[in-house]
Amino acid sequence: MDHRPSFLDIKGKRTLVVGNGAVAARKADLLLRSGSDLTVIAPEIDDELATLARDYEFSHKAGPLTADDLTGCVVAFGCSHDDSVNESLCELAARAGILVNISDRTESCDFIMPALVDRSPLLIAISSGGTSPLLVRMLKARFETTIPAAYGRLAQFAGSYRDKIKSMVPNLTRRRRFWEAMVSGPVAEHLFSSQVEEAESLMESLLKKAAVDGDQAPVGEVYLVGTGPGDPDLLTFRALRLMQQADVVLYDRLIGDGIMNLVRRDAERIYVGKLPDNHSVPQEEIGKMLIRLATDGKRVLRLKGGDPFVFGRGGEEIEALSENGIAFQVIPGVTAAVGCASYAGIPLTHRDHAQGCVFVTGHEKDGKLNLNWKSLIQPRQTVVVYMGLSSMPTITRGFIEHGADPATPAAVIENGTRAGQRVITGTLESLAARTAEAEIKSPALIIVGSVVNLRERLSWFADKA
Ligand code: SAH
Repeated sequence: MDHRPSFLDIKGKRTLVVGNGAVAARKADLLLRSGSDLTVIAPEIDDELATLARDYEFSHKAGPLTADDLTGCVVAFGCSHDDSVNESLCELAARAGILVNISDRTESCDFIMPALVDRSPLLIAISSGGTSPLLVRMLKARFETTIPAAYGRLAQFAGSYRDKIKSMVPNLTRRRRFWEAMVSGPVAEHLFSSQVEEAESLMESLLKKAAVDGDQAPVGEVYLVGTGPGDPDLLTFRALRLMQQADVVLYDRLIGDGIMNLVRRDAERIYVGKLPDNHSVPQEEIGKMLIRLATDGKRVLRLKGGDPFVFGRGGEEIEALSENGIAFQVIPGVTAAVGCASYAGIPLTHRDHAQGCVFVTGHEKDGKLNLNWKSLIQPRQTVVVYMGLSSMPTITRGFIEHGADPATPAAVIENGTRAGQRVITGTLESLAARTAEAEIKSPALIIVGSVVNLRERLSWFADKA
């Protein structure tokens, strides 16, 4: 983050705009709308500033700018047509330790002004750090059209009930659920349609209900959610919704930042993946954690790479839940084989190549691969091997030793569907050496079968060079 957003309270505080013209008037307008005590330093009050003066009061000084003008200011804006004036503002502000913004000169700015979607008291500030004003305008337009004007009213209404609800519903989790029910239920709907009295009476009855057992923990639940192979765009709507309402999240190494950023910000995060000593939190331990958290009344999100029921041990985790009578949901995800195949341009089945496809694990147990070679080496069949990177030489050799044609096309996909995706192709004979040479790392998936050749024509997703 090059800029850290914050919302300044400048009500009644001194602010300064240097210059006149349209840009200066826009800045002055924003400052006055936030209730600040504004001084404009400019040779004259032009038409734009005069229009503003009809609605607001501010001081005007014809100039020149001096150090005294900055005394007691919280922020200053340089909008002069004369660069030397802006430069001297920068110097004086730096000396006085006051944050300064110079129009169209990001490099001289202590802060930048975001685009605003104003649903006061609800505000959305958008910035691209000066890199793409067009993108900012597009996003602003999108928010303007999708966020009802009445959201401001909703925020105001909620604000007026805050203290009352805090005392009537002391339990934090229960209180959060109360708010969720309020903003997505009939209270909000009535406010949106300006039926304030109805909204108030609905709110009162909702409150009464919540207050009855206001300090008791609510009933918890576990969401076992498949997040797909990495690209956040591949999440399901249901996954996203549950990610946004969870109280606590258990995740591991396979879950990338792109996905974690979509989990509700104030959800507690618990890492249960590989520890520095390379040991994972035992499955049993995770099961116990899920039970304990849900019993405490939490909505527990258990994130799984890909699909929870495909080599994800999701079944084991929820068996324990079911034995303990804890409610749960299982949300499917795009499994690595399907995601990686698409993003690598390798169809898993194809009328000219493969009528079927099998998914196997290449994970060795006690140093041994336990694969049913006969079922894997079948004509017109694609084989996808999960967790097969470290045993790749044994796997490809195994295929050949059990009768597969050494020239059978094969591919390995590293970091499939993510920005760093790499695909290495070859044959059963060459793939292991090529993979080692390219220093392919986990997570990686192996695909064996003539469908791999289609990649030449069907590849579309840019790989890392
Ligand atoms: N439940 C997951 C699989 C977990 S097993 C699913 O349905 O996809 C972990 C293995 O999945 C890794 O060893 C690797 O073989 C594969 N994998 C997961 N994500 C991957 C990715 N983005 N790119 C390549 N392989 C991936």
